[in-house]
Amino acid sequence: MSDNPLLDKLLGPDGPELTCDECFEHLDRYVELEHTGRDADAAIPGMRAHLRGCPACAEDHESLIALVSRERR
Ligand SMILES: [Zn+2]
Repeated sequence: MSDNPLLDKLLGPDGPELTCDECFEHLDRYVELEHTGRDADAAIPGMRAHLRGCPACAEDHESLIALVSRERR
């Protein structure tokens, strides 16, 4: 993966990438794992790649993280 989103798009994702539906389905668990310091990427492969390439899901991810860290404080 480069830091250039356009290049990433041309090259495609590094590994398996989830669809938006799958992403949405696993997002809760992913954020939970991230929050508890577990290896969320190993647990749900393709999630990170999808979040990088999908602004809509990345936004959901952001707000869920904000929600979780507010709740746990
Ligand atoms: Zn998506």
